[in-house]
Amino acid sequence: MFAPRKYSRPRRCIFYILAFVICQLFFVFLFIRNGSYDNKAFSHQPLHHESESRKHFLEYREFISKTPQSCTTRSYNLPPPWQSDVSVVISFHNEARSMLLRTIVSLLRRTPEEYLHELILVDDGSQDVTLLDDLRRWMEEVFGGRMDRLGLILLKNQKRMGLIWSRNKGASLAEGHYVLFLDSHCEVNDGWLEPLLERLELNPQLAVSPLLDPIDPTTLSYRKGNELLKGGFDWSLHFHWLKRQLAKKELPEMAYKSPAFAGGILMMSREWFLQLGSFNSQLKIWGGESIELAIKLWLCGGQIEIVPCSRIGHIFRRLHAFDFPPQLDQQLSPAQETYLHNSKIIAESWLDEYKNMFYALRPVARRIPLDHTYDEMQRLRRERQCQPFEWYLRHVSPELRIHFDELSATGTLRNEDRCLHARQSDSQLILASCYLSDITQWRMLRTSGQLSTQRELCLGVGHRMGITLQPCGRNETTRNSQRWLRLGTHFLHAETHLCLDNPLKERLEMSTCRSHAVSQSFQFALEMDAS
Ligand code: UDP
Ligand code: MN
Repeated sequence: MFAPRKYSRPRRCIFYILAFVICQLFFVFLFIRNGSYDNKAFSHQPLHHESESRKHFLEYREFISKTPQSCTTRSYNLPPPWQSDVSVVISFHNEARSMLLRTIVSLLRRTPEEYLHELILVDDGSQDVTLLDDLRRWMEEVFGGRMDRLGLILLKNQKRMGLIWSRNKGASLAEGHYVLFLDSHCEVNDGWLEPLLERLELNPQLAVSPLLDPIDPTTLSYRKGNELLKGGFDWSLHFHWLKRQLAKKELPEMAYKSPAFAGGILMMSREWFLQLGSFNSQLKIWGGESIELAIKLWLCGGQIEIVPCSRIGHIFRRLHAFDFPPQLDQQLSPAQETYLHNSKIIAESWLDEYKNMFYALRPVARRIPLDHTYDEMQRLRRERQCQPFEWYLRHVSPELRIHFDELSATGTLRNEDRCLHARQSDSQLILASCYLSDITQWRMLRTSGQLSTQRELCLGVGHRMGITLQPCGRNETTRNSQRWLRLGTHFLHAETHLCLDNPLKERLEMSTCRSHAVSQSFQFALEMDAS
């Protein structure tokens, strides 16, 4: 029916020319696209061979395809740059050059120029003496004219001062509206800044964390992080991830409140940070500073949110990548002592009566000397009319409160001058010095009468009246063999009606209850109120 149309020769020519031009345009488009991907992958280049970098490039694309569309396709309501530019502060001590470069390159490539007021690098006494000079030269070579417009402050502590001092120093020199504290082993992702700015604009007393995507410490590849986690801490003041419960109609990519920051990467108004007294300058070297800032933010009128549309990759390490300076106590490692010192300051300045919970779990902290008083923090609390810690338990971290409802007692379990200890290496029960840094913390569960370690092992009585330490039972039979009643300071085993006893000082056994026997008397570090 349809006879092929006959075109005249000049029309056919035009058709071919047009087809050719369209093809060319298509290739140019592909070329630009790849070029720009290469730019994105550029941050990997100092780290990997070509093939490696290709691999990460693919992972990167795969990752991007996993980020919710609603993050990447929507436009953000941003305030003008002069009201919301950012000073980025990075403090580092002996960081690998490659990681530092990855952090800086990704930051400069993926941050809108007009919003990046300045970059403040604090070299905290690293051994690499030419690092800062090399960095400056290299950045000028690579980023050329951009470096004239970007404020670049390079500081070097001749003596190592620690992260806390160095971040405060950086923030004290900053001039941007916001300050972002970044670690030196990160890769900021595309569009990381806009979602944070949008949230901060809504509430000047808010502080935000991006969602941290883990960078694999061995392959250095970028992985997708988890949107269902909040930052929090336990009564030993150790950081923990907590489960985030999605409310009805709440999407995983929506910003959400968090009791603490996601690690140490956070952004907030510089003024507000200074008004809160910066990071507590009495904390030493590293540890606890972002927990302290989180507590004081919440109690003094601020809030913390994690913003999943903003992604920053971070290497999470199991061990510290740096040494801690030697401390006084020979029985603790320098890292432990520093952390305990800092935690003790936090407990004393913010936890009110709940500091007993901290000391019950970390009795060794009592021995650590502090060379100052807490007047400054008390003044801040008065001036800013900060809430008592009770308020934090009630409104911000109900997870911490659960202990009071479920436990009747907790902490070390002392018999005379020693404490009941479940040795980690072989799970043997022994009596050991109460000041061992990893001395077992017991919990007495209110309803089941179980006596459990933090690793969910429960004390029970088994074959031939032998004392056992086994996974806490959930069924009736094991529960019964793990049920204890308390008669004063005695532990009476419900099934056998015998008492926990320490007749020979080095081992435990079950024996007939004798009300005045010192060997049968065990005290918890902390008894909870029955309320
Ligand atoms: N850091 C520092 N001085 C120190 C210890 C650490 O500047 O004395 C830097 C470190 O190089 C890193 C940041 O502080 O950039 C945070 O340290 P780390 O990554 O070990 O903390 P984490 O991520 O484990 O909380
Ligand atoms: Mn880190």
